[in-house]
Amino acid sequence: MSLKTELQAELDALKAAGTYKRLNYLESPQGARVRMEGRGEVIVLSSNNYLGLANEPEVVQAGIHALEQYGAGTASVRFICGTFALHRDLETALARFVGTEASLSFVSAWNANEALTPTITREGDFVVSDALNHASIIDSVRLAKSITKCTTAVYKHSDMDDLREKLRGAKDAKRKIIWTDGVFSMEGSIAKLPEILQIAREHDAIVVMDDSHATGVLGKTGRGTAEHFGVMGEVDIITSTLGKALGGAAGGFIAGPAALCDMMTQRSRPQLFSNALPPTVAASSLAAVEFTEAHPELVTKLHDNAAYFRAAIQEAGFHPLPGETPIVPIIVGETALAITVSEMLLDRGVFVTGFGFPVVPQGQARVRCQVSAAHTREDLDAVISAFKEVGKLVGLIS
Ligand SMILES: *Cc1c(COP(=O)(O)O)cnc(C)c1O
Repeated sequence: MSLKTELQAELDALKAAGTYKRLNYLESPQGARVRMEGRGEVIVLSSNNYLGLANEPEVVQAGIHALEQYGAGTASVRFICGTFALHRDLETALARFVGTEASLSFVSAWNANEALTPTITREGDFVVSDALNHASIIDSVRLAKSITKCTTAVYKHSDMDDLREKLRGAKDAKRKIIWTDGVFSMEGSIAKLPEILQIAREHDAIVVMDDSHATGVLGKTGRGTAEHFGVMGEVDIITSTLGKALGGAAGGFIAGPAALCDMMTQRSRPQLFSNALPPTVAASSLAAVEFTEAHPELVTKLHDNAAYFRAAIQEAGFHPLPGETPIVPIIVGETALAITVSEMLLDRGVFVTGFGFPVVPQGQARVRCQVSAAHTREDLDAVISAFKEVGKLVGLIS
């Protein structure tokens, strides 16, 4: 069989299993409401545009201005001739925002994570990772293991006893690294950061936290999980994305000690062998950071909207997973039902994605609602009435 025939058979199997992903094409900027090809205007309840900055005029203008000032891109990797002054400005702002000495930008958070673990581990080191960590962390740890021969383990999701046990089992390791998401994207739950920091101290380990769903989201001023718990400055290394709350274009970063960022510049393969962020993206991201710093009320609005939506959906009879983040997952059970519910909601002008097995455990398929500061109360009320209607039709509520 040819490659093409084999791949087509696999795709057909995905379609038969109901796990094939159909892309929806948008014809307008990301926002509380978007125009979807073939559908018209829909309310978006599935975006990581937490602060609504993706189409904020200051953010867009900064990108246009940088395109004119710097042109399309770097045409080189950073250490050759591919670093603009703009990259330093962005990295200074990001470090200030998350409260670290320095930061280094990458073309994605995926890239930042993948760069990190293999660069900071050697043979004899030990990496322990939460079971529900993002795929980019999982791949990063696997890569480190195969390149540097460090040893690795996975602890049960947010299970602090298991984390302690795994660290006890590696007490002779040289460098010990605890890797966690700040916010777990499928659950909308927050890492038990104060306990993790305490355990790290007890075991002489360092803490690396991916705050992609928390940057711009958690804490009074959006500085992330550490601000939420009042432990700014205590996490050894933070990674995060520029593709969510901070403008939503693309890009990611590593934040921590200046020596770490310098070493990433010297040694990490994505820095050495791949171009930097395009100026448009770097400038929009920088404007997004500055906008967030200047408008903490946007973060307050996000928190208010999330609390309002959580209360209203519970009031309507649904049982979302408990939590405090703008990610509000509603468990429906079987994968097929999650897909049906999201299709029925889309018919009613609400765009929210259903997630099933194998992204989440069997029987725990869900529609994952994500609230934004861009939503008005009218948007959220319209969403709630669509949910009520669909919930009754499929028997999720009475
Ligand atoms: C979204 C996400 C990423 C990937 O971000 P990109 O910048 O799009 O690569 C990485 N880690 C976590 C926890 C995420 O939620």
